[in-house]
Amino acid sequence: MKVSNQLKEKIENYFNHLFHGAQTNEDNRYMEKSTNFDQWLIDNDYIKNIASSNLVNLVPTKKLLFLSFNKSKEFIRNFSSTFGNYESNSTFPILKNRFEFYYNKLRDNFGKELQEENQIFICPYCQRNYIGIFDNDKSTKGYIAPDLDHFFPKSKYPFLAATISNLIPACCVCNQRLKKDKDTYEQCIPNPIEIENNIFENIEFNYNYKGPYIENYSEFKEYLEFFKIQEQYSIHTEIINDIKVKMNKYNRVKKDHLSKCCPSLNEKIIEDMVFHEYKYIDNKKTPLWKLKKDIYKKIKNESN
Ligand SMILES: [Zn+2]
Repeated sequence: MKVSNQLKEKIENYFNHLFHGAQTNEDNRYMEKSTNFDQWLIDNDYIKNIASSNLVNLVPTKKLLFLSFNKSKEFIRNFSSTFGNYESNSTFPILKNRFEFYYNKLRDNFGKELQEENQIFICPYCQRNYIGIFDNDKSTKGYIAPDLDHFFPKSKYPFLAATISNLIPACCVCNQRLKKDKDTYEQCIPNPIEIENNIFENIEFNYNYKGPYIENYSEFKEYLEFFKIQEQYSIHTEIINDIKVKMNKYNRVKKDHLSKCCPSLNEKIIEDMVFHEYKYIDNKKTPLWKLKKDIYKKIKNESN
């Protein structure tokens, strides 16, 4: 996700307050001065602390919290080449626990605000399920924190567990059932929030007697397989049926009849009323928006 300067400041203040006294001046000095990322990576005591067992002062520095997505990839690459098989390092479990703690703090205190700021209403991975969390009060027992997925899994890259650009609000199916701890870095899976062209803008749905299917599957095979998009969408035969039933009900004869009875109702107005949810889709807020759009177009063409 992205973060505004205003929210950045709030998060920074929160962590500064939380770790007051733990973050050394030395560390701060590096954070302010090092503009070159590679240099920062080499210089930073923080990284050295990870490799050694000196974890006392290990806190999520500003740089890590607000690291861009591309820099996160660079970070993983540099980290792995500097520390080799860091997962077998005895400090790795401590590192994991620490960052899990930072992540929980970030999610519980700012998760909802981040999600709202990013205007994410449906799961960016499958674009099939709602993820908007309802307004709930943090102070009550029933508080539900948003489900934030770590694009690069925190089990393997715990140092990015509290990095905002690595967090994606996602549905339970994609996050907990499909993606789990799979290594998106190793498998080069595109991050749907970061890539310029939305994958769903580019895939095309069609249908046959079995149900919907993706026509240009092979172009996006890796992503589609990773999130089982074909499988997730193939069950939605109700959309095909709904469009077909409406198309039959409001056929040419019926439309002409309606127009005659009520002259202000021309063909376009009738179509707009009957197929509003398919013709004017908000692709940020409507689950299954691409399927609805494509199938409507196909059936409309067939009926003409
Ligand atoms: Zn999903």
